[in-house]
Amino acid sequence: MNAEIKMMTSYKYCEKTLQNAIPCSGIGLHGGKKVNMTLHPAPIGTGVVFRRVDVTDRDNLIPATYDRVVDTRMCSCVGNEAGVTVSTIEHLMGALHGFGITNVIIDVDSPEVPVLDGSAMGYVTLIECAGILEQDAPLKAIKILKDVSFADGKGAEVCLYPADEGLSLDFMIDFKQSRAIGRQEYSIRLTPRTFKDAIAYARTFGFAQEVEMMRSMGLAKGGSLDNAIVVDGDQVVNPEGLRSDNEFVVHKTLDAVGDLYQLGMPIIGHFSGVKSGHMHTNTLLRQLMADESAYEIVTLDAYEASLLTASRRSA
Ligand SMILES: [Zn+2]
Repeated sequence: MNAEIKMMTSYKYCEKTLQNAIPCSGIGLHGGKKVNMTLHPAPIGTGVVFRRVDVTDRDNLIPATYDRVVDTRMCSCVGNEAGVTVSTIEHLMGALHGFGITNVIIDVDSPEVPVLDGSAMGYVTLIECAGILEQDAPLKAIKILKDVSFADGKGAEVCLYPADEGLSLDFMIDFKQSRAIGRQEYSIRLTPRTFKDAIAYARTFGFAQEVEMMRSMGLAKGGSLDNAIVVDGDQVVNPEGLRSDNEFVVHKTLDAVGDLYQLGMPIIGHFSGVKSGHMHTNTLLRQLMADESAYEIVTLDAYEASLLTASRRSA
């Protein structure tokens, strides 16, 4: 971990923000225009909140929570009651989840986040450059108490299962139409280290025919081989090739890490995704939160202490 971490807390698990504000700019995937973004430190209890600084006549704050998701077709897009939205947030959300950043205000001057290279690596660098500040408030987590699942009837399925500690994920994809992708499986336990070393690098991907179609609909104007893997039939079009043999399924895992953070706190449980996308994960989160018997909110220090007591009792 290269991020400098400053401690201001007596809790082992605490809320976190950034030490300093940090700006960046890049192209928006759909609009194709330059977007300026600044991540700002935020007080305890803020959560992850986007602020559309180009909108001045209405409420421009958009908390990045599952119940604010208004579109999941191409990416994750959140909006507020005034109809102000920000899209393509999932890779940045993944990096915030990976590093456990609880409180941050993200200024953007456009309806989308800069896509950078299509992975989460650039956001990791931003967080590391800004530094992490541990805040004096105990961290709460959502503990999954029973299996919750959603299947779309077309082969995609997502599930959350109970687990004793932390968040682990597994993902499976099966693209029969392209041997460049094929069937891939991946599983990982999420920590800042595994996020940075094993997940963050994986780029988003699309098919050449889809890119054509999206362009004709005025979407993906900023999409290029600089910010996505493009697959044409059985071939990867990008001259540099893939960053790993399983980059596709690792990217799907990154998307899930980002989308799951819309719960606003870490999860104690296991996520499983089969051929799923943003819509499936969002539906799963809505189902989870609609069933009060499916989860409980725990304070992590107290939860860990209770596990120790339980293991002493069973020893
Ligand atoms: Zn993605």
